[in-house]
Amino acid sequence: MNMDLSRRQFLGTAGAGLAGGALGAFGFGEIEAAFADSIRPFKLVNTTETRNTCPYCSVACGVIMYSKGDLKKGEPAEIIHIEGDVDHPTNRGTLCPKGAALLDFVKAETRLRYPMVRRPGSDKFERISWEQALDRIARLMKDDRDANFIAANADGVTVNRWTTTGFLAASATTNETAFATYKVVRSAGMVVFDNQARV
Ligand code: SF4
Repeated sequence: MNMDLSRRQFLGTAGAGLAGGALGAFGFGEIEAAFADSIRPFKLVNTTETRNTCPYCSVACGVIMYSKGDLKKGEPAEIIHIEGDVDHPTNRGTLCPKGAALLDFVKAETRLRYPMVRRPGSDKFERISWEQALDRIARLMKDDRDANFIAANADGVTVNRWTTTGFLAASATTNETAFATYKVVRSAGMVVFDNQARV
């Protein structure tokens, strides 16, 4: 926070009488904190609250994202603030440093927003549609499984293993999504299965 600016704003708001006595009594740091406290409740006025889950690790802390802009009116919604959800049973409003920095994560210029592919022999990635990405993934998975599926081991025991393709899932999904993902991956025989939290 800009110290000079906040002091000027505080003095203008609170008046010279208060400032005369309070400056010496509290010190500049407390004055600045008091001013910040006085305006903080207005920061989130007219924002839309959206519940979500921190995507970083398997703790899966609940967060609330505050956005400005009404989608129903065709306005672009922009997230301006993210904080811990006090009603969430896991974190009760708290966030670790990674979760507390989620706004930077959301707005990072390097964030991947759409599927990209680097074709064989190419030295660069190119953007493709979600339909193209899903078709390509399905095609490659089917071809690889058909070519490399191991139905039985050397002793003739049925093993149904698919060891040449791996699946990276997300640790911050719902229980239902995680259950469905696990069933799809394991029923296909896939052995290599992980997520970003390594659980
Ligand atoms: S806030 Fe921290 S502990 Fe909670 S899910 Fe995110 S990374 Fe994990």
